[in-house]
Amino acid sequence: MDYSRDVQVACQKILDNCTDCGACVSECKLLQEINEDLTALAARKPSVEEAYSCTLCGLCEGVCPSSLSPRYMFATTRKKAVSDEEVPIEEFKYMFPDRKRNVMKMYREVNGIDYKDLKVDLSLYAAPESCLP
Ligand code: SF4
Ligand code: SF4
Repeated sequence: MDYSRDVQVACQKILDNCTDCGACVSECKLLQEINEDLTALAARKPSVEEAYSCTLCGLCEGVCPSSLSPRYMFATTRKKAVSDEEVPIEEFKYMFPDRKRNVMKMYREVNGIDYKDLKVDLSLYAAPESCLP
């Protein structure tokens, strides 16, 4: 399947509607590290490495006053990269949350982290309700 058009549509939506207000950037380490205006990022399109650095948490969507989604731009870039066989998807299998052993679960176990310890407003994130504590 060709996801080029999905990436184009996702980037174009940001190009057409983003005011570069910076609200998403101030909440997201990845966007801070990329250190570009969102419109500039959408214009050049995210790299595969940038797309795989996004956690898909959805906080950017939660804080955007224009209801835009940098998350979706990164997610479609990831889909395109997998479809184009630019990434060895088997190497990422331990990141899949539907697997019994996945890296997030193991990290929490090793470090004794429980979701109940989180002091953030989870309603801003894109996690399905069933994933929230
Ligand atoms: S989903 Fe948005 S806030 Fe979360 S890591 Fe990706 S760009 Fe940042
Ligand atoms: S919060 Fe929305 S409008 Fe503001 S920079 Fe991010 S994507 Fe653009």
